Amino acid sequence: MTLSVTANWGCVRARKPDDDKAELKSRADDLARRKTRKIAKGKYMQWNNWSGRHRVELDSLRFVRREEDAAAFVAEYAATGKTIRVAGSGHSHAPVVVNEEAILDVSGLSGLVSVDQDTKTAWMRAGSTIYSLGIQLHEHGLALRNQGDIDRQQVGGVIATGTHGTGRNLKNISGSVKGVKLILADGSFVNCSAEENADLFQVARLSVGSVGVITQVEMVLNPSRVLQESGVPMSYDEVAPRIPELIENNERWEFFWFPRNDQTVTKSINPSDEPPSYPLAEEGGRRAFSFEVLPNHRSVPHTEMEYSIPAESGPECFARIRELIHSKFPEVQWPVEYRTIAEDDIWLSMAFGRPTVSISVHQDVRLDEEPYYRACEEIFLSYGGRPHWGKVHYLSADQFAAIYPHWGDWWRVRDQYDQNGVFLNEHFRSLRPA
Ligand SMILES: Cc1cc2nc3c(=O)[nH]c(=O)nc-3n(C[C@H](O)[C@H](O)[C@H](O)COP(=O)(O)OP(=O)(O)OC[C@H]3O[C@@H](n4cnc5c(N)ncnc54)[C@H](O)[C@@H]3O)c2cc1C
Repeated sequence: MTLSVTANWGCVRARKPDDDKAELKSRADDLARRKTRKIAKGKYMQWNNWSGRHRVELDSLRFVRREEDAAAFVAEYAATGKTIRVAGSGHSHAPVVVNEEAILDVSGLSGLVSVDQDTKTAWMRAGSTIYSLGIQLHEHGLALRNQGDIDRQQVGGVIATGTHGTGRNLKNISGSVKGVKLILADGSFVNCSAEENADLFQVARLSVGSVGVITQVEMVLNPSRVLQESGVPMSYDEVAPRIPELIENNERWEFFWFPRNDQTVTKSINPSDEPPSYPLAEEGGRRAFSFEVLPNHRSVPHTEMEYSIPAESGPECFARIRELIHSKFPEVQWPVEYRTIAEDDIWLSMAFGRPTVSISVHQDVRLDEEPYYRACEEIFLSYGGRPHWGKVHYLSADQFAAIYPHWGDWWRVRDQYDQNGVFLNEHFRSLRPA
C-alpha cells in the first residue's frame, strides 16, 4: 500500500471546520500586523517570500538576465553605501532575503553552462531552478546527487542554506559544490574552489547570501538513475524501534509523523533495475528518474522550523518532540519530518563534523507558531541542535558561536571580502560575533 504525504497534508487543512475560518482570519490579520513591515515612506517596491510571512517595502528590486548587468548594478549600488541581498525563489522561512535597500533577483541567470562527462561535473547558472536542471542534466545522463522535498528553489538559494534531502550517505547540496563564481562588493568577478581562494570557497559554498552574488556553480553529479519510491503507513510505535534499521537498509529513508492520529508515513527511495513507469504515479509509488521521484508538491502555505542534531540522538529527540506536542500543543495538526544527512566539512553546514538527523516541525502560516517553535527549539538545543539556515529560529550571535566551531573564521573571511557589509541585511548583521 502506498500513501501520499501530500494527501495527508491536504487533510490537515481540509479537516479544519468552516467555523474556524473566521478565527483563523482574525489571527492571520493580527499576525500580519505584528510580523510584516509597515510601508515605509518613499519605498515603492515590494518583495515577499513564498509563504507571505516575510514582506518588505524596499528602494530597489532589480531583475537581471546577464552576469555583467548584475556586476554593474552591484558596483554602482554598493558605491552609494547601501546594502544588497540576493533573492532566489524566496522559499526560505527565515528573513534571509528581506532588505529595505536593494534586492537583486537573479532568476534570469539560468541554465547549464558546461558539462564534463568524464568527471561527471557541470557548471550551472545560479538562478537555475532545481526543476529546470533535472531534465537538462538528464539529457546528459546526469543528475543532482541530492535534492530537497520540493524543486522550486534555485541553485544559489539551496547552496546558500545547506538544503538537503534524506540519505545516511548523502551530503546536503552544498556538499556537491566543487567551484563557485561570484560577484564581490566592488562588482568584480572571482572564482573559488578547494584549490583557488580556498578560504572564500569555505564561505561561499554555504554563505546565507552574505558574501556576494553567486552567478555560477560547479557541481559534482551522479549518473541519472531510476529510483523506486515506496510510501508505507505505520504507527509511531511500529516505526520508533525500527528507525536505525530502516535508515541503514535504504539509500534514502524518512518519515512524517502526524500528531492527530499518531500515525506515520514512511518513505523509502532506492535504485531500481526496472524501467521508469509513466504516467508517473502519485507520491509514495513513483518509479522514474531521480529528478521525477525526489521532488513533491507542497502547496499549502506554512512556516517551518528544522534542527539538525547528531544522528545518534535522533530517535530520543524525536520522542521528546512527540511528547511535547501531545502534552502541551495538542492542537498542532501539522506533521513532523525526520531525515538523515551525511557529515561534511563546510564551516556553516548543519552537518559539519557529524552524521546528522534533521527534525522539522511545521505550522499553518496563519497561526502564531512562536510558542510551539520556541518549546521545540529548547529541546533541539539540548541535543546540540543547529537550525536550518532557511527556516525559523530564535538564536543569537552567541548561540551560533557555541554551536559552530568555525563561526568566527566564517565571519573573518566574509568581512575580508566585503569590508563594508554590502551583502548583510538587518537579520544577518544582528548575528555578527561581538
Ligand atoms: C515548501 C518548502 C519545502 C522545502 N523543502 C526543503 C527540503 O526538503 N530540504 C531543505 O533543506 N530545505 C527545504 N526548504 C527550504 C529551502 O530549500 C531553502 O530555504 C532554500 O534556501 C530556498 O531556496 P530559494 O532559491 O528559494 O532561496 P531564497 O529563499 O530566495 O534565498 C535563500 C538564501 O540564499 C541566498 N541566495 C539565493 N540566491 C543566491 C545567489 N545567486 N547568490 C548569493 N546568494 C543567494 C539569499 O540571499 C538567501 O540568503 C523548503 C522550503 C519550502 C518553502
